[in-house]
Amino acid sequence: MSAQPSSPMGAPLVLFNSFTREAAPFTPIDPAMVRMYSCGPTVYSFAHLGNLRAYVFTDTLRRVMEYKGYNVTHVINITDVGHLTSDADSGDDKMEAAAKKTGKSIWDIAAFYTDAFKQDIHRLNIKDPSRWSVATEHVDDMIHYAEKIAPEHCYTLDSGLYFDVSTLPEYGKLAGAATHDATPVESRIDPVDGKRHPQDFAIWRASPKDEQRQMEWDSPWGKGAPGWHLECSVMSMKYLGEQFDIHTGGIDHREIHHCNEIAQNQAFTGSTKTGANYWMHNNFLVDRDGKMSKSKGGFSTLQSVIDRGIHPLAYRLFCISAHYRSELEFSGDNVAAALTRLKRLVMGVSALRDRAEGTIWQTYDRTALEAGLPAAAIDALTRFDAAIADDLMLPRALPLVEEVLSMKKISVDDRLRAIASMDLVLGLNLMTINRAGLRVRPADAQITEDEINAILDQRKQARADKDYAESDRLRDALAAKGVEVMDGDPLGWDWALHLG
Ligand code: AMP
Ligand code: ZN
Repeated sequence: MSAQPSSPMGAPLVLFNSFTREAAPFTPIDPAMVRMYSCGPTVYSFAHLGNLRAYVFTDTLRRVMEYKGYNVTHVINITDVGHLTSDADSGDDKMEAAAKKTGKSIWDIAAFYTDAFKQDIHRLNIKDPSRWSVATEHVDDMIHYAEKIAPEHCYTLDSGLYFDVSTLPEYGKLAGAATHDATPVESRIDPVDGKRHPQDFAIWRASPKDEQRQMEWDSPWGKGAPGWHLECSVMSMKYLGEQFDIHTGGIDHREIHHCNEIAQNQAFTGSTKTGANYWMHNNFLVDRDGKMSKSKGGFSTLQSVIDRGIHPLAYRLFCISAHYRSELEFSGDNVAAALTRLKRLVMGVSALRDRAEGTIWQTYDRTALEAGLPAAAIDALTRFDAAIADDLMLPRALPLVEEVLSMKKISVDDRLRAIASMDLVLGLNLMTINRAGLRVRPADAQITEDEINAILDQRKQARADKDYAESDRLRDALAAKGVEVMDGDPLGWDWALHLG
């Protein structure tokens, strides 16, 4: 890994901190390493597209850090225990509930959906974190942590060990500074018998006396399982230290989960430090029915998008076309529009690649890519850098790729180098993907690509022979199988598969 530059490259990075509700210049605690923690998936079902938006956001944040010259340690946890069906302290453990419903073991369910999640991450070109941190592998750490905070901050009930939020004068500050339209914390928390305050939360959940849970551990508070909030405090501290740079999650976490993590962190360190200098939250992906959520059911997965013939990177492009703090509305049409934009980019870049003379554009090193570029390209890159430094303003950065593509006055290689540099942040694989790679067969397609191409070749021959009747017959034969032949398609895409 390259040495840390004495100062970051380009425009100073400014990030919006949910804790202060203000944008502030970013300075890492340790100039040699930015430390980031992202709340990870609860692996009781497939991730939905909203969940994946959260990880496109963290990946973009990480890429921006690296683009600016920082080294990054990024931890994402895998929640395989403790997350309840209600966001607070009642209801079943989501994992236990899924096991009951399917008759499978929790461990099998967790392994299956963890793999599925990682597959989605890779399909979206999201970089693997430095560490995947699995909750059930840290239960001992959680027990030790809880032992330290229990005497001063917790009380026991039959149902477990609870954190008393009144022991901290600033509990809920992260949510409390919320805008007037945010849901007040209290109204979303279900009562549990004996809790001293509605916001008190479980640190340890005792197993019911008459029930053997699939996942339970011995503890000073009896057999049971850790509360969900505990894992993130424990694992972030273990791998990133008591105070690190950035903690991310979806905006729903600002109201409860992250308030509770902060409470635990403050109890543990005996200070007012929250655990992270910046708390950053992505806004929701919504659909016509509101926020996309697993509990509502009927949600869309990445696979369902792919099954409709849409390449997963079109979903990535769709996400980065909006600012991470804005709501984003998902619809088939919106993602299809992103696919069209991606096709144009891929076509434009592949055409340049075909004409390139040098190979520098194939490196992944910003300095090498940008060295000696002509003024027009540098100007575009400077505006790109200023946009991403402005709290990751990707919607403003993205059109600069299109602008560089159309800069006829600068050489093919220089255009490629500038775009390759931008793609380090965008992560659209523009330097490697081609037209064929972008084409995805819808799940219910009745014809293979090879068959389509063979018929298209016959049709080309028929047209060369001026046998238009045969050419039309072949086009109709393809249409009967859902393949639209796109003669004169301005994108030069030749054909598209349409679902019935
Ligand atoms: P979960 O698997 O439910 O623990 O959630 C994983 C991540 O997705 C968390 O950071 C959530 O805050 C985030 N998230 C959940 N629903 C949405 C949504 N509709 N849009 C954006 N992010 C979401
Ligand atoms: Zn978390």
